[in-house]
Amino acid sequence: MSGERIGFIGLGNMGRPMATSLVTKGFPVTAYDVVPTSVQILAQRGAKAARDVADAVAQSDIIVTMLPNTPDVDGVIAEVLKSGRKGQLCMDMSTIDPIASKRFAAALAAKGIGWVDAGVGRSPAHAERGESLFMVGGTDADLKRVEPLLGAMGNKVIPCGGPGAGITMKIVLNFLAMSTCQLTAEALTLGTKLGLTARTMYDVITNSLANNDHLKNYWPTKVLGGDVDPGFAIDLAYKDLSIGVTTANAAGVPVFTGAAARECLGQARAAQGLGGKDITAVLVAAANNAGVKPPKL
Ligand code: NAD
Repeated sequence: MSGERIGFIGLGNMGRPMATSLVTKGFPVTAYDVVPTSVQILAQRGAKAARDVADAVAQSDIIVTMLPNTPDVDGVIAEVLKSGRKGQLCMDMSTIDPIASKRFAAALAAKGIGWVDAGVGRSPAHAERGESLFMVGGTDADLKRVEPLLGAMGNKVIPCGGPGAGITMKIVLNFLAMSTCQLTAEALTLGTKLGLTARTMYDVITNSLANNDHLKNYWPTKVLGGDVDPGFAIDLAYKDLSIGVTTANAAGVPVFTGAAARECLGQARAAQGLGGKDITAVLVAAANNAGVKPPKL
C-alpha cells in the first residue's frame, strides 16, 4: 500500500467493486457518485463520503475516475484543473475518446498534475474478485505511482505506451469484443431458427476455433441463463463501438464489419429499447428480428 489518499469518482457496475477492493485492502478512499445511495454503499464498506467532485479532489492525492463517457470525465478534469494541486495524479479508468484522453493528459501536465489512462478489461464479476485486466498509458513515473492501486484491483497490468496509449488499446479491444458479440448473437439466432438447441451450439462452438471467451464464460451467466440485467450495458457498448468507428474513420481506416455491428447495437437500443440491458441482450435483439425466442442453455 502506498499511503496515498485516493478519490474514487463513479461507483457503478465497475467502479463499486473496484473502489471496494481498494477499501478492503486498506487504501484511504474518498468516494463520490452523482447517485447518493452508491456513495452510501461505499461509506458502509469503509470509504469516506465526498459531498461532490470538488470535495473528492480536495481530499485526494490520486483521483480515479470510472465514469460512463468522455463528457463525464471532462467535467471532473475541469474541476481538477480549477482546484487541483501540483503533485496530484488523475487516473481515468473509463472507456473514453483517446483524443480527449491525450488532451486531458497535456492540460494536467501543464499544471504539474500526473495522468494515467487505464482501460479496464473483463467483467464486473472479475472486478468483484480483484481480477481485472488493466491496459495502461502514462509516463514511467506516473505508471509506477499507480502500481499499488492496480495491484489491489486487478491481477494483470499491460503497459501500452505513453499517455493515451492505454485507452487507445481499450478502444481497439472493445471494437473487436463488441463486434464479436453481435456476430455471436446472429450465429446463435440462425442456429435456433434452423432447429439447433442452445446446448448443441454452445458445446460445439466453445470446443472449436470459432470459440470466444465472451460466449464461453460470460454468456452462460447472462442471456443464456435468462438474465439481461446490465453487467455491461448495450448503451456503453454502443458508445465504445462508436468511439472505435469514429477513431478509425479519423485515422483513414475502413472498418466495414465494426461499423455494421455498431448499427446493430443502435437498432437494439433505438427500435427495441434494450440500451439499458446487458451487452448479451444483442441475442434478444437478433432473435426478435428473426421471430424466434432467444435460446437458453
Ligand atoms: P455504470 O453506468 O454502471 O456506472 C457509471 C457510474 O458513474 C454511475 O454510478 C453513475 O451514477 C456515475 N456518474 C455518472 N456521471 C457522474 C459524474 N459526473 N460524477 C460522479 N458520478 C457519475 O457504468 P460501468 O459499467 O461501471 O462503466 C464505467 C466505465 O467503464 C464506462 O466507460 C464503461 O464503458 C467502462 N467499462 C465497463 C465495463 C463493464 O463490464 N461494465 C468493463 C470495462 C470498462
